[in-house]
Amino acid sequence: MDNNSDKKLGIGLVGLGTYSSGELAPALKETSHCYLAGVVSGAREKREQWKQEHNLKDDNVYSYENFDSIRDNPEIDIVYVVLPNSMHKEFVIRAANAGKHVICEKPMATTISDCQQMMETCQNAGVMLSVGYRLHFDPFNQEMMRLGQNDKLGKINKVIAKNGMDVGNKDQWRLNKEKAGGGPLMDLGVYCIQGAIYTTGSLPIAVNAKFSKKTDPEKFKDVEEGIEWEMDFVEGVVAQCECSYSKELNVLRAETQHGWFELQPAYEYRGLVGNTSEGPMEFPHYRQQARQMDEFAQCVMQRKESRVPGEMGMRDVEILMAIYQSATSGQRVELHLERYEHMIES
Ligand code: NAD
Repeated sequence: MDNNSDKKLGIGLVGLGTYSSGELAPALKETSHCYLAGVVSGAREKREQWKQEHNLKDDNVYSYENFDSIRDNPEIDIVYVVLPNSMHKEFVIRAANAGKHVICEKPMATTISDCQQMMETCQNAGVMLSVGYRLHFDPFNQEMMRLGQNDKLGKINKVIAKNGMDVGNKDQWRLNKEKAGGGPLMDLGVYCIQGAIYTTGSLPIAVNAKFSKKTDPEKFKDVEEGIEWEMDFVEGVVAQCECSYSKELNVLRAETQHGWFELQPAYEYRGLVGNTSEGPMEFPHYRQQARQMDEFAQCVMQRKESRVPGEMGMRDVEILMAIYQSATSGQRVELHLERYEHMIES
């Protein structure tokens, strides 16, 4: 790989579900530093369909069985894993062992030890690992970082971070604990954790959580329907968080000494709205995933660490696990995240 800025890196998408087809493939038509070079899927018809639709070469279309031979394909530089959460580990490790740089969707994995193994494999293989944290590349969320971390409206007292949606039909992997690792916390809660961290510019020191009461125990027999939690930060700053698979919620708000600032909706792919006690936020709307993938491609070409590295994904899985531990035990759980302090983005 060279530093030629005209070069576009080839991305191979693994898992051709809703996110790959609805967001990543369209985004890859707008990218400047990478393009859709190949796909990996378990379903023959889907492979055929993507090959036709995206004009892919035969040699760049893989099944799960022959995926490891991607090592011999110089046209694919980056593998992007977009599978159910519990499958991230296997495919990140296989991609790294095939010598490919990797983007892994959130949550990075369903256990901390899986995250560790993924990071170690990538390090040993000399490849870069990034997590699909698209909001770090969105100007509205970047403004939350700037206002919060620079005390623009005075010091933050409280953050409110809530994310919820109606998850839809009951027969899906998101409601299967083995495949998803948990319910809305694993899926939507990650954004609340991230939002609170990048808005305050600090890491939580403890969490206190409780599961919401189930309104549909049959549908949510395997995973939580909702969960509410508080994260304590130093100097008495607190983040009040909630996520749900049955309620519409979408806010990231900071209350400060001299005012407030917020995004509502905060975590969508498009149409974010930002306001502050001093007036509205005005920014262009970009396709978040195009910026996210372009930036990773540039990091790979320049051998520069990603703003959203695997280590950040592992940090967040540690926090997710502490939240579950607190909700299950009814106890406050302390966090010791000092080793991640270098990674807060400003
Ligand atoms: P999806 O159900 O639409 O797609 C999952 C794909 O995995 C399908 O193509 C399915 O065929 C395949 N698959 C392979 N083995 C499977 C198995 N054993 N069970 C179920 N499916 C299997 O899911 P999605 O919404 O595309 O989510 C995929 C990943 O992307 C998840 O990790 C999710 O958290 C993440 N995601 C991230 C964002 C984001 O904004 N960053 C948005 C949506 C999804």
